[in-house]
Amino acid sequence: QKAEWDKLKDEPTITADGKHIELAANIGTPKDLVGVKSNGGEAVGLYRTEFLYMDSPDFPTEEAQFEAYKEVLEGMEGKAVVVRTMDIGGDKELPYLTLPHEMNPFLGYRAIRICLAQPDMFRTQLRALLRASVFGQLRIMFPMIATLQEFRQAKEMLMEEKAKLVSEGVDVSNDIEVGIMIEIPAAAIIADKFAKEVDFFSIGTNDLIQYTMAADRMNERVSYLYQPYNPSILRLIKNVIDASHKEGKWTGMCGEMAGDQTAVPLLVGLGLDEFSMSASSILKTRSLMKRLDTKQMAELADKAINDCDTADEVITLVEAYTK
Ligand code: PEP
Ligand code: MG
Repeated sequence: QKAEWDKLKDEPTITADGKHIELAANIGTPKDLVGVKSNGGEAVGLYRTEFLYMDSPDFPTEEAQFEAYKEVLEGMEGKAVVVRTMDIGGDKELPYLTLPHEMNPFLGYRAIRICLAQPDMFRTQLRALLRASVFGQLRIMFPMIATLQEFRQAKEMLMEEKAKLVSEGVDVSNDIEVGIMIEIPAAAIIADKFAKEVDFFSIGTNDLIQYTMAADRMNERVSYLYQPYNPSILRLIKNVIDASHKEGKWTGMCGEMAGDQTAVPLLVGLGLDEFSMSASSILKTRSLMKRLDTKQMAELADKAINDCDTADEVITLVEAYTK
């Protein structure tokens, strides 16, 4: 099987009926590009920049960030790179950023919430990204967006930093896509409104599932509630994809579910445009997608969403379809 997968390394990802799907990789540092290349990644769908902060004794400087972003953009040789702005908080701490102790860190001060409240740190990251943008195809993504106001505020800061750089004579790309992660149910529910203002969505199922099911993604005692195939999750995903397509935008997924071989047929059926996963899952997913017919998978997804009552029923249905 490994040998069969290896042959797919330099092929695009095309379903049995000829639809191209973008198979991308999640990375944490520029070093991870080696794995993206050796596994035939068509793009980087999630660059988790918080590692840049976590691996540093103090806030990484604009220059250090610029070098890292440039390295990734150049390394991908014109292929798209989705860079997520820093997602600190929740379970990810920084020794040099003391945050007050919270009862519920996953529901607390994290990610875009910190960035909007402490804009100096955020603006430094945005400047580094904008300066790096001329070295490849950059897509900027904001994590943990719950409201339109948050997106508008973050985008405005980005535009202000861009204007400043341009007035300083610095080259900045004019075709940077700006999108958001969909990982909070509130945003998934009003995806139609967001779709008018963003360039793309990327669904973060790791958090979207925990927040939808109210089940901590790290807590084993409630892990039985962590159900990617629950019809409630599938309906949220469908709502997001449909909303984006209505506005001519695209939707990707960068949570673990994107590389889950049981979920892939359903997600293809729902019309997901881009799948981003750990590099080691890319080739087996490409091999699976080559065997899927999008119309048949659309029928399957429709049944899962409308006829199945439970996650177990969905799993049984998918297994029967893909045998
Ligand atoms: C997610 O929530 O699905 C995601 C991709 O982000 P992280 O796992 O870094 O929270
Ligand atoms: Mg997340």
